Amino acid sequence: MNSYSGALLREGVRIGFVPTMGALHEGHLSLMRLARARDAIVVASIFVNPTQFGPHEDLARYPRTPEQDAALLQEEGVDFLFMPSAEEMYPAGFATLATRIEVTPLGGVFEGAIRPGHFAGVATVVAKLLNVVRPTHAYFGQKDAQQLAVIRRMVRDLDMPVEVVAGPTVREDDGLALSSRNRYLTPEQRRAATVLYRALSSAHRRYAAGERDGEALRRIMCATVEAEPLAALDYADLVDTATFEPLAEAGPQALLVIAARIGATRLIDNMPL
Ligand code: AMP
Repeated sequence: MNSYSGALLREGVRIGFVPTMGALHEGHLSLMRLARARDAIVVASIFVNPTQFGPHEDLARYPRTPEQDAALLQEEGVDFLFMPSAEEMYPAGFATLATRIEVTPLGGVFEGAIRPGHFAGVATVVAKLLNVVRPTHAYFGQKDAQQLAVIRRMVRDLDMPVEVVAGPTVREDDGLALSSRNRYLTPEQRRAATVLYRALSSAHRRYAAGERDGEALRRIMCATVEAEPLAALDYADLVDTATFEPLAEAGPQALLVIAARIGATRLIDNMPL
């Protein structure tokens, strides 16, 4: 992959890169299209990165559909699919605890507080993938807003020669954000899962009606989730998009964030204000 990219770069070809963990859906494909529209060559990667999963998380049962994914990428006109093995990415001697990138305090709050080590795993593997693929643009979904913030910070702080581009969250008709983890949900849980979008939308409506108080917006989201018996709230907050610091008032950089468990499945979502 690295030598293909090197040859393309020497010819001045712009490379767009979309890293994923596979089990591709319209959310991923929307990023491929974004890349396709801007860059001459589009590279997608599929790598279920073990270092970003906690010991009790769903690494073993994370959905893997490589043949279907490859067919979808071909339909989208993606030029390269980079699908390394864990041994290739982490060869013997790679010391995960010694060589890693941490973005603090951003990577330690919200998702980072609930999933210790998650964002170090994400930042490190994304840095490795960027070094391998050497893209002009790297595309990430707004769906994972904190991941996007961590990567923007890393790229800026470490002077990585890539432009990060964000794509909007793709949703089902009833508002549920597309996620590879949605397939864990039973039909009853699937209906309850819309609670994240309902909570965000309620707060957003109140914001549109003039409410700026962070506490009031938080309360609306909490109340919506409390009314859903199948959902357990992890957090609902109003934060700064770049730093994830909680905001007392909704200003220009404000983002509503929410995470809840539906049975054993954790779902996250967010909405910019
Ligand atoms: P994942 O395979 O979950 O690691 O996601 C790969 C990329 O797709 C990340 O940049 C995600 O933010 C993005 N993504 C996942 N779900 C969606 C969605 N519903 N809408 C837009 N982008 C998404």
